[in-house]
Amino acid sequence: MATTDIVIATRHFTRRFGDLVAVNNLTLEVFRGEIFGLLGHNGAGKTTTIRLLNGVLAANSGSARVLGFDPSKDGTALRRRTGVLTENPSLDDRLTARENLLFYADINNVPRGKAPRRIEELLVDFELLERADEQAGGYSKGMKQRLALARALLHEPELLFLDEPTTGLDPVASLYVRQLITHLSKHKGRTVLLCTHNLVEAQRLCDRVAVLEHGQLLAVGTPADLGHRFGKVHKLAVELEHEQVPQALEILKQEQGITVEAEDKVLHIIGAVRERIPALIQLLTNAHIRIYRVTPQEPSLEDVYFALHGEGENSL
Ligand code: ATP
Repeated sequence: MATTDIVIATRHFTRRFGDLVAVNNLTLEVFRGEIFGLLGHNGAGKTTTIRLLNGVLAANSGSARVLGFDPSKDGTALRRRTGVLTENPSLDDRLTARENLLFYADINNVPRGKAPRRIEELLVDFELLERADEQAGGYSKGMKQRLALARALLHEPELLFLDEPTTGLDPVASLYVRQLITHLSKHKGRTVLLCTHNLVEAQRLCDRVAVLEHGQLLAVGTPADLGHRFGKVHKLAVELEHEQVPQALEILKQEQGITVEAEDKVLHIIGAVRERIPALIQLLTNAHIRIYRVTPQEPSLEDVYFALHGEGENSL
């Protein structure tokens, strides 16, 4: 990867609030055009990382280059080239959507001659045109979120920081936002750094993810890569003759260290490490069980996340 393709690079980046280390010795790189996800529990340091990278908060130690700028020194110049969607976007409720965007265009130096057309495009894209002249205070949460996203894109930033971009959106609006993020990255070459609690969304959307805990980086890589490195839960789907399912269940129940569930004519074997698969299949074939298909299932990002945190699924 050429250094010009590195959009964000941090080295030992650290931020404290009193005794609390919110971002701890963070070293990572984000490349041009990728969708990079920051994952972590509440309070893991995701929002603080975005604020540091966008130069609205200063680090206590370490360094960072973002689009070639030092965010602690060149924050204003940097923010002209970045767009941000914060967790609770501050729109002016007394202004209409159009006025909110016009105001933001002004403070972001979007040329007056260009701004109305750009705003019109965004109002259309985000399906806000019909209600563009109503006060934003009367908008639903989803409409406010779409307006905040439109605002983040107004000045065509090359780097986007999106904090929980689909929170509060219904499934249709969430899908729209995911497609938009993918389009911006894959067709327009924009780089997107997003925080999310939604691991299924991260798996679908992100090229690479970083898992944070107490401000520290636990792991970074593509979802598939992390699955191979950290996914402890090995799953295997085995398709059988339907009437042989009870017999197969009986045989596998005798085996230690695995859990078996039947779903129609498919057995799901959970917890079998790769090396054990041939022996398990042989147990079935020795009993004359006819097997039509054996499919290992890759560990999901969710499996990885909980393996890294070493705890149960309900705690996120
Ligand atoms: P969430 O998923 O809940 O949004 P997060 O991963 O974004 O969490 P941060 O908001 O970055 O986490 O917070 C990391 C830690 O830093 C938390 O313990 C938080 O209370 C603390 N923190 C963040 N901002 C401040 C601040 N301005 N003053 C004091 N503590 C802060």
